[in-house]
Amino acid sequence: MSNIEKVKCLIIGSGPAGYTAAIYASRAGLNPVLYTGKEPGGQLTITNEVENYPGYPNGVMGPEMMEDFKNQALRFGTDVRFEMISKVDFSGDIHKVWSETGHEIHAHAVIISTGASAKWLGIPSEQTFMNKGVSACAVCDGFFFRGQEVAVVGAGDTAAEEATYLSKLCKKVHLLVRRDEMRASKIMQDRVKNTPNIEIHWNTVTEEIIGGEFVEGAIVKNVVSGETQTLAVTGFFVAIGHKPNTDLFTDSIDHDDHGYLKTVPGRSLTNIKGVFACGDAQDSIYRQAVTAAGTGCMAALDAERYLAEIGAH
Ligand code: NDP
Repeated sequence: MSNIEKVKCLIIGSGPAGYTAAIYASRAGLNPVLYTGKEPGGQLTITNEVENYPGYPNGVMGPEMMEDFKNQALRFGTDVRFEMISKVDFSGDIHKVWSETGHEIHAHAVIISTGASAKWLGIPSEQTFMNKGVSACAVCDGFFFRGQEVAVVGAGDTAAEEATYLSKLCKKVHLLVRRDEMRASKIMQDRVKNTPNIEIHWNTVTEEIIGGEFVEGAIVKNVVSGETQTLAVTGFFVAIGHKPNTDLFTDSIDHDDHGYLKTVPGRSLTNIKGVFACGDAQDSIYRQAVTAAGTGCMAALDAERYLAEIGAH
């Protein structure tokens, strides 16, 4: 007897996009199987409080919210497996997928919701103060630093956008740029340069983030003059880019230069029939839990239609 498992709908990834797809797919009778990946719950499990997800008027801790998402998916019968998918073959009508333990699954529809990961500087103190002043998302965490002094690292559009966003909430924003120029678009650079409470520190790298329980400062060094100084910041935002977790798929699925999967505008369809993408794996712009959940819903509805079309539902 063959060990190959046949499923209608396989979901890869367990952030807001994957679990929302699972809730919709299981309620539609698609009997979805969801592989969580190595970070069950996704990026929200490494954040603290979430205050901008509708339905939680008093806020909710990120890990708790993802537990709620999971329980809602389980309630309707999603088969949640705490494992990684390590290989895919999307060359035929039936999509073949292997788990890291070698289990082979054949799926009519596959929903990719593997998310993205923030890039970090790699200094030890960044980990020490994670969620204690260190963040990679100004929209998520900026509010906690209102009226305070913060630093943003980076020189691309994300850093420019985050610095501008924070400048409206915070007393002062230090933008730490490692070279003598920014790569952000001119309009975003101009916005940063014309905002009085943003100070740009050129040729500047971070040596250490310091504090007690929470961040109290950052030691930065000018790489041209060799001078160091301590900035009295309580928030430290790393905005040096994100990497979509799509390495497994980029051989077969169309993607942009950064690895974000391409979908038909306004839909979740990829270039492969029966393979759908949602959440941060295909979104380099919004990257919010609520937008990820929205596209997860779209992917499940698209998968349901596809399965009906091919007579598999
Ligand atoms: P980018 O890759 O464009 O920029 C990353 C920035 O981080 C670079 O300036 C880089 O410096 C800097 N950096 C990298 N590593 C370090 C480090 N270790 N220490 C200090 N600085 C570091 O990433 P973004 O997230 O900014 O943008 C990604 C894409 O998304 C881009 O195409 C961007 O245009 C787009 N985007 C568009 C937005 C919009 O239009 N509203 C908003 C946000 C993003 P260096 O320049 O020296 O390499």
